[in-house]
Amino acid sequence: MAIANYKPGNEIDAWCTSCRADKLHRIIAVVNGNPKKVECLSCKGHHLYRATAAQKEAAAAHKRASKGESTTTTRTSRTSRASLPATRKREEDLVAVWEKAIAGQPFENFKPYRIDRTFVRGELLRHTKFGDGVVMTILDANKCEVLFREGMKTLAQSIGVSNTTSQ
Ligand SMILES: [Zn+2]
Repeated sequence: MAIANYKPGNEIDAWCTSCRADKLHRIIAVVNGNPKKVECLSCKGHHLYRATAAQKEAAAAHKRASKGESTTTTRTSRTSRASLPATRKREEDLVAVWEKAIAGQPFENFKPYRIDRTFVRGELLRHTKFGDGVVMTILDANKCEVLFREGMKTLAQSIGVSNTTSQ
């Protein structure tokens, strides 16, 4: 335990028995290196030194911890809850991007989606299941990422282009 070098005249946080609160006190008397008597700087009252409520709570917490009870569980769950809004924000951003891409676009601008078609970035398409979408990324010759109202989907493209002559 660290020994603080208390001297009469030093200022110290302590519990004031008159104010019934943690107040700044001036040390009047020191016994064995510990503050013994203090003067409250708020009410000017003189009384025996008492640890602050915060110090007493810390001591109590230390006692609890040494008994095996821990307060870290509640702290951890609070941190994991705090990360949720960030995820929701990203989803909202995607919806905004999707709305901007398809807003005011005439029906004929949406190319009906078929796996044997080839899409380019920024192209609008209409999917039978997902609805209107906009091509965000061309992943490779046969895959593209399309943003629909419900989110990003990876769709196949240019499948069987070379050997299909129907239509
Ligand atoms: Zn006081």
